[in-house]
Amino acid sequence: MNKIIIAVDGFSSCGKSTLARALAKKLGYLYIDSGAMYRAVALHFLQNGIPFKPEEREDERIESALSDIQIEFRNTPEGKATFLNGVNVEEEIRQMRVADHVSKVSTISTVRRFLVKQQQELGKGKGVVMDGRDIGTVVFPEAELKLFMTAEPEIRAHRRLKELLAKGTPMTYEEVFANLAERDRIDSTRADSPLKQAEDALVIDNSYLTPQEQLELALRYAGRHLEISEN
Ligand code: C5P
Repeated sequence: MNKIIIAVDGFSSCGKSTLARALAKKLGYLYIDSGAMYRAVALHFLQNGIPFKPEEREDERIESALSDIQIEFRNTPEGKATFLNGVNVEEEIRQMRVADHVSKVSTISTVRRFLVKQQQELGKGKGVVMDGRDIGTVVFPEAELKLFMTAEPEIRAHRRLKELLAKGTPMTYEEVFANLAERDRIDSTRADSPLKQAEDALVIDNSYLTPQEQLELALRYAGRHLEISEN
């Protein structure tokens, strides 16, 4: 079968990873969560006291910190997990401590260049579904299929709150809503690779779609590029 690259971009907590993971499973593709890579870098900076706010950044310290970072995705009994320098950080990178800082870390061009290179390497063999903010615009501008996901902000905040509470992270709706709004603001307005819809992206508003309906829609969009098996 003809293998392609599928880029899934969009706002925070829009269900990108749920759809991207389901698509990858259905097509037998590799799924890459590029947000997890930015989160791992943010965690490393926090753990090692690397200053990352614009007013206190030092290019040399950032470059040196990046040279100490190795990010991998490994299979574990709980599913695929993000490893930072050999340590499973999957749980930790989803915590609010990281969520509150990751968008600032993601504005740093040196960080973006470091991760984009690795993401392009992972997609070299095609047969990849990658989700993020700049996948269809910067990482794989030649991706055969680009999806841009969106949903109403209140619905996104409710979904995210449910996930966090299920994991035992005590949060209020207002805190979650504010975090998503702030991340979207920083992600959409940064100078380097801002979140924006690629001109050739197909939009999926999933406010009122079930995961199954989103998958069917995405497969229909992908159908133009693939011969999809029926099972
Ligand atoms: O996808 P997720 O919400 O886990 O991403 C966390 C953060 O990483 C985003 O809010 C954004 O700041 C950053 N990110 C990015 N570019 C990507 C993926 C994520 O800047 N391709």
